[in-house]
Amino acid sequence: MSDDARVGPLMPARRVVGFHQDEEGQWVAELACGHGQHVRHDPPWQVRPWVTTAAGRAAFLGTEIECRRCEAGADRSDR
Ligand SMILES: [Zn+2]
Repeated sequence: MSDDARVGPLMPARRVVGFHQDEEGQWVAELACGHGQHVRHDPPWQVRPWVTTAAGRAAFLGTEIECRRCEAGADRSDR
């Protein structure tokens, strides 16, 4: 028996603390770790109609999403 089974592909969950739009008008969730993650509404591939409304974004604040940059070991610098 060991704890090795707990080590897996889980990505670290980070709290959403805000939103902003990038230069293309795509919404980016600002995470507590300092990273940003796109939350595109680009049907039919990515369907997130909530992100296009202020109420929908407000409802998403405080929830946790997986941060791919933390998982990849990236630091806070954005290249
Ligand atoms: Zn992160």
